[in-house]
Amino acid sequence: MAYLLEKTTTLQKYLDLPQNGKIIAEYVWIDSFGNLRSKGRTLNKKITDVSQLPEWNFDGSSTGQAPGDNSDVYLKPVAFYPDPFRRGDNIIVLTECWNNDGTPNKFNHRFESNKLMKAHSKEKVWFGLEQEYTLLDPIDGYIYGWPKGGFPAPQGPYYCGVGSAKVYARDVIEAHYKACLYSGLEISGINAEVMPSQWEFQVGPCEGIKMGDELWMARYLLERVSEEFGVKVTFHPKPLQGDWNGAGCHTNVSTANMRVEGGMKYINDAIEKLSKRHKEHIELYGKDNEQRLTGRHETASMETFSSGVANRGASIRIPRSVQAEGYGYFEDRRPASNIDPYLVTGIMVETICGAVPD
Ligand code: ADP
Ligand code: MN
Ligand code: MN
Ligand code: MN
Ligand code: MN
Repeated sequence: MAYLLEKTTTLQKYLDLPQNGKIIAEYVWIDSFGNLRSKGRTLNKKITDVSQLPEWNFDGSSTGQAPGDNSDVYLKPVAFYPDPFRRGDNIIVLTECWNNDGTPNKFNHRFESNKLMKAHSKEKVWFGLEQEYTLLDPIDGYIYGWPKGGFPAPQGPYYCGVGSAKVYARDVIEAHYKACLYSGLEISGINAEVMPSQWEFQVGPCEGIKMGDELWMARYLLERVSEEFGVKVTFHPKPLQGDWNGAGCHTNVSTANMRVEGGMKYINDAIEKLSKRHKEHIELYGKDNEQRLTGRHETASMETFSSGVANRGASIRIPRSVQAEGYGYFEDRRPASNIDPYLVTGIMVETICGAVPD
């Protein structure tokens, strides 16, 4: 720990150096495994609009995104955020991946999703995602802070827990929260989860494609923060078998119609439509999600679709307060922690509002 502190103090000396008018832009993209990648470049002046950001490229053969003999993949900037690590005018740039023949890369799910969002922009679809995740020891991959080769006391005291041995790595979570706020993300809250060393942050409500953008950026900041604290983040939906909760990404949804008086009718219509496409949704709701959607640990079975008011064992939950007021939003509890939010928000809009017209 002393070494870490000393190292940080030494680094600060360099971070404080002026940049001679140049800025650093860290370009971020999503690879073929659903992991984040990034690389930095120098730009000559402060950026005030995304259109000022140059396209860039990378070696797609190193990320599973292109063959070695045609390896260039292009990075098209779509949004940028203040960089909480480098600060000043430095920025983090979210990009879409494109092939050199002018088609979106196979793993660029933002492109199709954005078409759906644009086609239905009048409906003003809002999302709020509850990103759960688990912290691991980066050396041995075991759950962070747990006794080696053993287990902490059974679940019960940890959810929103307070106090030593009930809550693990709060420093990481605080750092991430502040980093998100600094970058201007719509992070709306944070809480310790049911399994020790499992946490959640919420992003939203965000309209349309902004939801996927912001969740990916919040994940990026979390991964970067974790480097500095010596913990490893996993988004696996069931990091540990046994009587331990899995990790999800509950997806809260509303359209403009649902948010005003009489909205319950539109919420029920949406749930009816969702019930008819359960299998298609599940296919996009995360790899290994079957390990999580067992019907236990606050989940509904993957085999059947269900809905209910205040029911945390249903596929879709209508919050009690929404039922009482007669309008608001609903929660899809099926998506796993490792979803691509572009796919999930995309199919949600397709199911509720309709496909993109030809
Ligand atoms: P839970 O009780 O399921 O743990 P949380 O408080 O963690 O709920 O998350 C609720 C989420 O719902 C937040 O991300 C919030 O932004 C989102 N939300 C609130 N109102 C709406 C709305 N009208 N449309 C979509 N999402 C909403
Ligand atoms: Mn090189
Ligand atoms: Mn929650
Ligand atoms: Mn939760
Ligand atoms: Mn929830």
